[in-house]
Amino acid sequence: MADVVVVGSFVQDLAFKTSVFPAPGESRIGTFQPGPGGKGFNQAVACHRLGASTLFIGAVGDDVFGAGAKDFVDGENLPAALQTCPDQPTAAASIVVNQDGQNLIVVALGANDYLSTEHIDSLHAEIAAARCLVCQVESSLSATTRALEIARSNDTTTILNPAPINDSLTMALMQSVDVLTPNETEFIFLMKHVLQQDIPNDFWLADDASIHDYCCQANVATVVLTLGDKGCFVSHNPAVNGNPRVRERPFYRIAAIDVAATDTTGAGDAFNGGLAAGMTKYPDDFARAIRFANTVAGLSTTRPGTATAMPSEQDVTKFGG
Ligand code: ADP
Repeated sequence: MADVVVVGSFVQDLAFKTSVFPAPGESRIGTFQPGPGGKGFNQAVACHRLGASTLFIGAVGDDVFGAGAKDFVDGENLPAALQTCPDQPTAAASIVVNQDGQNLIVVALGANDYLSTEHIDSLHAEIAAARCLVCQVESSLSATTRALEIARSNDTTTILNPAPINDSLTMALMQSVDVLTPNETEFIFLMKHVLQQDIPNDFWLADDASIHDYCCQANVATVVLTLGDKGCFVSHNPAVNGNPRVRERPFYRIAAIDVAATDTTGAGDAFNGGLAAGMTKYPDDFARAIRFANTVAGLSTTRPGTATAMPSEQDVTKFGG
């Protein structure tokens, strides 16, 4: 049984570089780099490379990209329970980047939308025995909700990364969350559209005590706001019954590590995978797990790609993380 179970998306990234974006109706010559991705998959790869025993649960189509996903997990020795959806394509993202680093992206979620509750139920024992479950909102909502419910009723700590932020987030989902890990824009959306709490659009510019108050309005035990090159902000809500982390400082910031960032795509995924791995390494010291995640995420920004950019346990140790 794995310590960390990640339920989430696999997406085949198809990345093109071209000097100038084509105009409608125009074709342009560029270069091409395929790679495995998807928020859930990236987070599982990060966690696994950091030495935590990890199981990825996701869905792919019966096609060449699905076969590629299977080859990649085999190559990484990452345990994966992949549901094959015969009538759906494996998810794919068309990413076009121009010479100014701007991008145009279309993602087709394909099989991820068909990850079934039956598949989740068939892995009930794995989720129930895990120390930590990590989810996002890029896969079927019913399957994600079921996984969170199983975790909750079996004392498996739940991490929800509310990304990519969308209307499918529900109160039911929020009520199953122990640790919520939004970036600034995801937090604003979630507060306004899911929790009907009005917070300023520049809430993160407020003093730390006020940011803590905003986080407490989410009514989950712990909120970890990721703040890009400013690191992260941690808030433990004392009003949530049985919050195991309230004995720590109620709120604090951790600065980003000092690196020459060249590609920040997937930094949030590295952070979440790193946090799950950190929580298994330092089960009684959440702040230490956060420092670990912050280092993992910072190191991921020094490499291109997403899943393939995730650092190893050795890389993090070398950096002193
Ligand atoms: P997302 O990718 O979800 O938008 P963020 O941009 O907030 O997430 O980044 C996630 C984490 O990655 C940050 O909390 C931080 O730890 C790390 N990070 C992001 N950008 C940098 C950077 N330029 N230098 C160092 N660390 C970074």
